[in-house]
Amino acid sequence: MNRTLFMGTNLKMYKTSNETVAFLTELHELTRDIDRTRLTLFVIPSHTSLESARKCVPQSSIRLGAQNMHWEDEGQFTGEISPRMIKETGAEIIEIGHSERRHVMGETDEQENKKVLAALRHGFTALLCIGETKEQKELNISDEVLSMQLKIGLNGVQRKDIHRIWIAYEPVWAIGVNGTPASAEYAEEKHGVIKSVLKKMFGDEAAQIPVLYGGSVNPQNASGLIIKRNIDGLFVGRSAWQAPAFNSLIRQVMPLFKS
Ligand code: PEP
Repeated sequence: MNRTLFMGTNLKMYKTSNETVAFLTELHELTRDIDRTRLTLFVIPSHTSLESARKCVPQSSIRLGAQNMHWEDEGQFTGEISPRMIKETGAEIIEIGHSERRHVMGETDEQENKKVLAALRHGFTALLCIGETKEQKELNISDEVLSMQLKIGLNGVQRKDIHRIWIAYEPVWAIGVNGTPASAEYAEEKHGVIKSVLKKMFGDEAAQIPVLYGGSVNPQNASGLIIKRNIDGLFVGRSAWQAPAFNSLIRQVMPLFKS
C-alpha cells in the first residue's frame, strides 16, 4: 500500500484569527513546492479562526480542522458548536478526544463516540485522539486502555466510512510543556497495538486508517519516529507553531518516510 505522510498541528487556544491567517499564509508559501500526493498537511486552529483560515489558503494545500464539536445538530447547549456550524466554515476534519478535552474538560469515551459518529454523519473526517496516562502506563495497562478507547470511541462506525477515520496516538504523559516524549520504540510498539485492534474491528481495510504520533515531537526526535513502519505521520504541538519551524520539520522527515 502506498503511504502518504501526515503532518498536522493543533493550535490549541493560542493563535487569534489574524495570527492564524498569518501562520497559514506563511506555511502555504513555504511548503507550496511539496507534492501533496505525498504529504497530507493539516492545521487545527480555534473555531473563531476557521472561516478566515479557509479563505486564506487552498484546501489542496492545507486541510483545516476544528478542535472540538458537539454531536447534536442544534439544541440547548450554550457555548457548544454544532456540526452544521462547523460545516459552514469549510473545515473538513474534527479533532475528537484530545487529551485536554478528556483530562481537563472531563470528556468520556462515550461522548467521543457520539462526536465521531456525528462527524462522519456530516461528512467530516474524524481525528480520534487516544492515549494512556502516566498512571495507566505504570500499571502496565496501556494496551487495554488504548483498546478500550478505540472500541468505545469507534463503536458503530461502518466499514464504508473508515476512509474518514484518522487516529492520533498521544500518550498523556508525553504531551505539552511538562511532557516527556515517547521513545520511537515505545511509540512504534503502541502503534502496532492500535493497528491490530483496528484490524480486529474493521478487517484488512483498517490498514488505510492513518495512525499519527503526537507528544513533544521536536527536531531531535522526529526522524527516529518517522522511520518506524507503523507511524504514518506526526501530530505536532509547540514545535509546529512557527511556520518556518514546521516547514523545516516537514522537510526533515519527508525523505525518511517510506511510502
Ligand atoms: C498536543 O497537545 O497534542 C501535542 C502534541 O503538543 P506538544 O507537541 O506540544 O507536546
